Amino acid sequence: MLDTQTVMYGVFGDPIAHSKSPLMLNRAFAEADLNAAYAAFHIRPGTLKDAVAGIRALGFRGVNVTIPHKVEVMDYLDHLDDGAKAIGAVNTIVNDHGVLTGYNTDGIGYVRSLKEETGVKLAGAKVVLLGAGGAARGLVYALAKEGAAKVTLANRTPGRAVELARAMGAYTSTEGIGLDQAKDAVEAADLVINTTQMGMHPNVEETPLDSSLLRPGMIVSDIVYNPRETRLLREAKARGAQVHGGLGMFIYQGAYAFEYWTGLPAPAAAMREAVEQSFSSN
Ligand code: NAP
Repeated sequence: MLDTQTVMYGVFGDPIAHSKSPLMLNRAFAEADLNAAYAAFHIRPGTLKDAVAGIRALGFRGVNVTIPHKVEVMDYLDHLDDGAKAIGAVNTIVNDHGVLTGYNTDGIGYVRSLKEETGVKLAGAKVVLLGAGGAARGLVYALAKEGAAKVTLANRTPGRAVELARAMGAYTSTEGIGLDQAKDAVEAADLVINTTQMGMHPNVEETPLDSSLLRPGMIVSDIVYNPRETRLLREAKARGAQVHGGLGMFIYQGAYAFEYWTGLPAPAAAMREAVEQSFSSN
């Protein structure tokens, strides 16, 4: 029950009505027996600065930030974590007595899920990352920090892949190419990751790669989690590759936020259960 001691949290986005974050984080607070509450706030363009001032004024302990505010929000914070600075986007704000620090937990959440679910050794790995949008940025940085030997970015618009490869070249060996030129890099890869929207509901028959390139010994990962198994993962599994779906990334970006806010280990299994239940009841 909410009372005068309840610590407040939330997520800022537009649109926000379909966010699974409130049910996931409220389950986490309940599981950890914390007097805390997490709500979704529909923050329209042009009102983000006031909304961030509201975090300070109302004494919220933490806020997640999602589309389309992850970049603009950086202008209104007091400090940025090194990762958030390098990635150029914030998805988690921690309020320490009115001082706001921005973090990015998307990439590290992805890597934690990937390691836990596949046992992959990222040090020295050759990675092909399909896409060069917002999610790709966080992933490349986190993969580089884990010691990936090379990350090849393959994107429909090759210029964006080249630009992101250049920006992330400070952290590991990178290359930017067109999506239709990815064959050689995929053949040599230990890990292939889809970060494009291809295969996402309702375009469930789309896939970013020709299935003949997929083989045993390779890990194929897709950050799309609606549907839970994309066509890419279905074909990869059929061809003997190890597969990894996108739900874990969502769970662990939230788990890291919970840990930054509370200093406690996140009850990740309960968080996953809450999200999975909500999918099956849809
Ligand atoms: P974004 O910034 O808009 O980037 C979209 C990317 O997809 C770009 O590289 C774009 O290529 C590519 N793309 C879109 N439609 C395409 C098509 N028909 N053919 C080829 N490439 C296409 O989006 P984002 O925020 O990075 O999100 C990308 C995906 O990741 C979404 O499906 C989203 O649901 C998922 N995601 C999952 C999580 C999670 O927690 N699991 C978190 C964040 C995002 P161009 O540059 O050529 O336009």
